[in-house]
Amino acid sequence: MSYADDVRVELARLSPGGSCCRRAELSALARSLGVLRLSGDGPPALELATGNPALTRRVFRLLRYDYQMHPAITSGRRRTSRTRRYLVRATGSRLEGLLEDLMVWHRRRVYPGIGRRLVQRRCCRRAYLRGFFLGRGSINHPGRGHHLELVVPSPRLAQDLAGLMRTFALAPGLCARKDDTVLYLKDAQAIAGFLGVVGASQALLQFENSRVYRSVKERVNRLVNMETANVTRTVEAAARQVRAIRFIDAELGLQKLPRGLREVAESRLRLPELSLEELGQSMSPPLGKSAVNHRLRRLLSIAARLSGGAPPTGAR
Ligand SMILES: [Zn+2]
Repeated sequence: MSYADDVRVELARLSPGGSCCRRAELSALARSLGVLRLSGDGPPALELATGNPALTRRVFRLLRYDYQMHPAITSGRRRTSRTRRYLVRATGSRLEGLLEDLMVWHRRRVYPGIGRRLVQRRCCRRAYLRGFFLGRGSINHPGRGHHLELVVPSPRLAQDLAGLMRTFALAPGLCARKDDTVLYLKDAQAIAGFLGVVGASQALLQFENSRVYRSVKERVNRLVNMETANVTRTVEAAARQVRAIRFIDAELGLQKLPRGLREVAESRLRLPELSLEELGQSMSPPLGKSAVNHRLRRLLSIAARLSGGAPPTGAR
């Protein structure tokens, strides 16, 4: 499975949250995966197709439990492809009400952007972005260049999605591709931020891990006169610290930490390749090496406590 598949499977297995968030996510799934089939005067049908079984189950449950729909699931394989596709099809007298409630269409016309009521709360904005990423998102393996994108079928919807991302301090680039508008992030920090926003904490740990290894390795290659043992230790310690900090951020939120700890945590995430001494010098006011060391140790023990004793490994 690709890294992007790992992210999608993790997201598809997350707890779907409160009813406000389930509605936002289902709306985003309907907009990203869904196709509306209209047949003259007959009732419309909503079809959602995906190759991901976990996502199929998630869509099915969202439709079934919150909207008492009884969607049909069919699966098949195209002759040209080895992967199986699943189709969730919902129809019947309740469907129009569902589509209105999800603000996907209004009076039998497709709703232009994202309905404001759906995404008023922060939790729901996260759920909407998660749903859209599940439907039409992709991400590169962190070892192969940093790139995350959402392929959006209408420019207006793309503008609204970009607006949602900006409320989390993520500033996506925007370009046209065939009939779609593509929103993309190229900056590692922003991609990590997006993974955190949508709740992909395992994928985030994996991302940070290879990112840290890469940036530390680059630095190491420059510092050719360092001892090998020393270098390995530096690389591993920095990776461990970043894992712990990301873990704390996902579980607790860095803003909950005392200021001194939070500042060191944020600096470490920003500058994973620096030695403790350099890291201390980069802060304002500057901190001594032992103070930096002390705070990083405290962060490691907080992470260990949050994970129930064992330090977070980030590898599964
Ligand atoms: Zn919510």
